[in-house]
Amino acid sequence: MAKIKLPDGSILEAADGITARELAERIGPGLAKAAVAARINGRLVDLSTPIAGDTEVQIVTGREPDGLEVMRHSCAHVMAEAICSIWPEAKLVYGPTVEDGFYYDIDLDEPIRPADFERIEQKMSEVVAADRPFVRREMTRAQALEKLAGDKYKTDNVNRAEGDVISFYCSGDDFEDLCRGPHVPSTSRVGSFKIMSVAGAYWHGDATQKMLQRVYGTAWPTKKQLDEYLNRLVEAKKRDHRVLGRQLDLFSFNDAGPGFAFIHPKGMVIWNEIERFLRGVQNKYGYEEIKTPIILNEKLWHLSGHWDNYKENMYFTSFDDRAYAIKPMNCPGGCLVYKTRKHSYREFPMRLAEFGLVHRHEASGVMHGLFRARQFTQDDAHIFCTPEQIEPEIIAVIDLVFEVYRGFGFEDFLIELSTKPEKHIGSDEIWRVSTDALKNALEHSRIDYRLNPGDGAFYGPKIDFHIKDCLKRSWQLGTIQLDFSMPQRFEMVYTDKDNTQKTPVMIHRAVLGSFERFIGILIEHYAGEMPLWLCPEQVRVLPISEKTNDYALQVQARLRAGQLRCGCDLSDEKIGAKIAKAHGQKLPLMLVVGPKEAASDTVNVRMRAHKETQTVGIERFITAAKGKIADKETDLTF
Ligand SMILES: [Zn+2]
Ligand SMILES: [Zn+2]
Repeated sequence: MAKIKLPDGSILEAADGITARELAERIGPGLAKAAVAARINGRLVDLSTPIAGDTEVQIVTGREPDGLEVMRHSCAHVMAEAICSIWPEAKLVYGPTVEDGFYYDIDLDEPIRPADFERIEQKMSEVVAADRPFVRREMTRAQALEKLAGDKYKTDNVNRAEGDVISFYCSGDDFEDLCRGPHVPSTSRVGSFKIMSVAGAYWHGDATQKMLQRVYGTAWPTKKQLDEYLNRLVEAKKRDHRVLGRQLDLFSFNDAGPGFAFIHPKGMVIWNEIERFLRGVQNKYGYEEIKTPIILNEKLWHLSGHWDNYKENMYFTSFDDRAYAIKPMNCPGGCLVYKTRKHSYREFPMRLAEFGLVHRHEASGVMHGLFRARQFTQDDAHIFCTPEQIEPEIIAVIDLVFEVYRGFGFEDFLIELSTKPEKHIGSDEIWRVSTDALKNALEHSRIDYRLNPGDGAFYGPKIDFHIKDCLKRSWQLGTIQLDFSMPQRFEMVYTDKDNTQKTPVMIHRAVLGSFERFIGILIEHYAGEMPLWLCPEQVRVLPISEKTNDYALQVQARLRAGQLRCGCDLSDEKIGAKIAKAHGQKLPLMLVVGPKEAASDTVNVRMRAHKETQTVGIERFITAAKGKIADKETDLTF
């Protein structure tokens, strides 16, 4: 007799050998219809898996992440079958899921082109319509190797697989693939799909091996979800910060410095506003600011450990017959500032912030505008404190992080806590104390977080902060990392209450991570329509005709005196063309002025994304606009 414990805690009894699918049918027809896989005692398995004895079972649907992955991976099989039926000589290599979809690496001499996608999708639809079950077949490793003799890719996969049982899945009369599983019950259950792209990929990522074709696809439980996803991609393309950056004249890249951004005057306004905001918040939380050199000698990087662990990403130079490196991180500089004098526990926590310019080498293929560049400015800080101060200090950093994110209009966050990895330094005791301190701080701040066991840095546990933008894309921005390594390497000390010399705890902390990347994220999140406080040009005065040019200039002067960033369009264009131009430049506020406004000391305000205009007195406009800027409001209505 199987005693099956369900997620709601209830127990269901059934004859041994009942399959997960039969169980789902017993629970309800709706669930059975939505089911794609099951979790038996925590292990994700096919619905055809039999259940026996005391067991905990969850039925998994495509609505939850694991179910969606099973669906997408099964869709990769369907795509592989379609490709093999079109190109029988194609050899299958490996077909995992990725974010939002899946791919399959294929060895085929004839290139697969985007023009072929429709043909492949057509074949896939035939496989789906045939509604053939995915049937699992198990054998020993030796049997599997014998079966796959001559197929170097699949033989390699078997050699890499764990355990003694090797499984194959058959989904059709003559289509079978080596796979660990699980899969959806049949080919009709792979959801709504689309082939997205094809790219070259070396076998095992090894450039000495043959170049394979990696075909990417996406799959979603419903057609509606697929369409929404495709729409998000279209929207993301429209918001591409590289395109908007050029269009709005914010920044550029040049072959003279590949991966190094040139920030233009308008981009600098956004940059400086961000910097001013951060500085204000840091001041409130008791930070001091430093600036350290970007070139430091090689000896220092040996001492810091970067030479051993990070050399591949660093740039080097030499002069006066001595070797130097360009800093990839600001930490060693902060440590040298600390070491210039003696410290007492009374000064702690000591918070040293640095807007530090760092250089990290990225392969040219992975660079992506401001998102992934070779040079960027971190909003970095290093906090030195006693072990007892870790917890309150982390709470303060968490408060600071959220205050900053909310200032930019982000409200959707994901927090991760990563703990001790296998390879680590420091005693178990210090890891326990500091991991508990991070946990307690998160719990004190009533923050939901995801635990990543074993994913911390070798030198200490960490908390990572992700934000979600308006297209539901997740961006890792901030990080808080405890470090037990660097204070020892640099022989940093402080005098404790009992007059003994002790090693301080070091906390690395960044909120935005990189100014450049964050500006890219803001551009895409707001589609270039920045909140008023960040706009390079907050207001533009548009005289209706030459007759009111003088009044327009007066208005501009008064707004500038009120600390508003104000332009004025004195061109010969018609007023309609001036408005269209300002719209194209995504200006938030336009003030149209004609004889009527000049006579009454007023302006006619047009707000971005609003049809109605409003006539207000100049002083009232200035006060209201300044209020919105001070409060970082995103609503432009007066
Ligand atoms: Zn599979
Ligand atoms: Zn650091």
